[in-house]
Amino acid sequence: MEARTAKWRIKKDDIVQVISGKERGKKGKVLLVLQDEGRLKVEKLNMLKRHTKAGRKVQQGGIIEQEGTLHISNVMLICDKCGKGVRTKLKKLENAKRVRVCMKCGEVLDKA
Ligand SMILES: [Zn+2]
Repeated sequence: MEARTAKWRIKKDDIVQVISGKERGKKGKVLLVLQDEGRLKVEKLNMLKRHTKAGRKVQQGGIIEQEGTLHISNVMLICDKCGKGVRTKLKKLENAKRVRVCMKCGEVLDKA
């Protein structure tokens, strides 16, 4: 469990950078996190085309684009100070709240 929870440092609305795969280097906002699968969706990244047929609900058939999921290990949280995806560590604040900080520069990446 430790290895798994250690990776869970990305939340919805985080801005992340993709570090591997065909979308490598791109940045985007996290739309959805699928905890059980270890996957997430990032706005406008890893778009998948899906064909739809005309039916009762859809007036016109065609192709719709939708975000596909990315594996959590393929993205990194972006540090504003470093300007790129970075490794993070957890830091306990005085009020016992835990925040994510950049391993490189120590910047707190969680907004209060
Ligand atoms: Zn940093």
